[in-house]
Amino acid sequence: MSVALRNAKGCLTEAGFRALERSAVGQAPAELAAHMASCATCQERMLSGRRAPSETPRAERKPPPPAWRIWALLGFTLLLIAMFAATVRWLAAR
Ligand SMILES: [Zn+2]
Repeated sequence: MSVALRNAKGCLTEAGFRALERSAVGQAPAELAAHMASCATCQERMLSGRRAPSETPRAERKPPPPAWRIWALLGFTLLLIAMFAATVRWLAAR
């Protein structure tokens, strides 16, 4: 291969990352896969969106629901329970 997949420090170059991305699962060049498994720097680069594999789009993270919605739901639930209890009591009193 004419393009260097790893730099002088042994870390993956851009070409190295692209070679990893192109290869099928389990078919990555052994030396690249072995380095990726043992090098925190390259893992970090792979995971930080800058060098994420193109075929695995990042999962969109949903923002948590606003606090007021949680309290509104809780209040509504308590209101239902109170209405149910009042109805039962009203029926029992007849
Ligand atoms: Zn590395």
